[in-house]
Amino acid sequence: MTTVYTFVPSPNHAYPDHPERPARLDVLEPRLNTFNTTLLDSKPASREQIGLVHDPKLVSTLETVCREQAPGIIDYAPTYITKTSFDDALLAAGGVMTCSRAVINGDAKNAFAIVRPPGHHAEPDQAMGFCIFNNVAVGARDAIESGMERVMVIDYDAHHGNGTQAAFLNDDRVAFLSAHQYQRGFYPGTGGLDDAPHAKKRIVNVPLPAYAGDTVYEQVADRIFKPFVESFKPQILFISVGFDAHWNDPITSLGLSSQGYFTLAEKVVSLAEEYCDGKIVFVLEGGYDPMNVANGAEKTFDALTNSKSRNDAGDLSPHKEPDCESRIEEIRKWHGFS
Ligand SMILES: [Zn+2]
Repeated sequence: MTTVYTFVPSPNHAYPDHPERPARLDVLEPRLNTFNTTLLDSKPASREQIGLVHDPKLVSTLETVCREQAPGIIDYAPTYITKTSFDDALLAAGGVMTCSRAVINGDAKNAFAIVRPPGHHAEPDQAMGFCIFNNVAVGARDAIESGMERVMVIDYDAHHGNGTQAAFLNDDRVAFLSAHQYQRGFYPGTGGLDDAPHAKKRIVNVPLPAYAGDTVYEQVADRIFKPFVESFKPQILFISVGFDAHWNDPITSLGLSSQGYFTLAEKVVSLAEEYCDGKIVFVLEGGYDPMNVANGAEKTFDALTNSKSRNDAGDLSPHKEPDCESRIEEIRKWHGFS
């Protein structure tokens, strides 16, 4: 069984001097054919499929605004739109469903949807945070429509996946975990331990201090991801992966290296093998340095295809990591993971 991927670079979804730009994928693109994987053609999501997550009024407003008023800025992040953004966003969400359906149908072992615009900040009733539609949430709901009873999304982009959390806040069929940088003034400001006290063990937030890196993330995977998967028992795992938790990302200050991304991917792939019959779909979120995106995606493919991590990128963080022992224990205790 093969590893498949979709590639939706959206070259016309671009805005002057914006970090979420087509060039994010420029280093990765020529490497894509060096992995032992198969490219699938993405089909655009339908308005009805987007409507599994988003208010139909938002969908029609965004269509009108893109077609008639673009280019422009639609929220303070800033989130921009161009004339093509509505169609680009439909194709990005469709790129995720193409991957997850192939995995659910058994046509592929696992998958990686490399799409933009990203999605995890987009809430059911608003586009925000460089995101138009919540690609991973549409994929997760579509998986439920396809007959899955328990779906999990783990998000290790540097930022809190507020949109995905909002989509599934009251949906017992979907579990969500976000590990992210969390401090005053850091976008989007949500994602504290106690965001969803009604949904312990199902909505899990792992707020991390600046410079948390390879060691901290490995502890988080072993001591939080693992018991979370064990307790919810998902049938498919979606991973919102953002390469902006790399230590030299231009807009964040976490501490992962490319090798740290490999370790994380390997751990979630092995959890999927143990609990989800191997069903795992990675979805690209952020990551604003093109070299980090290429190296991180390469490491993710290495884990998906069960390859050894190739070519150590030699990019360990120069910063000392904070001790997150007590933070991790606090989170475990809050959710009763022990
Ligand atoms: Zn991010």
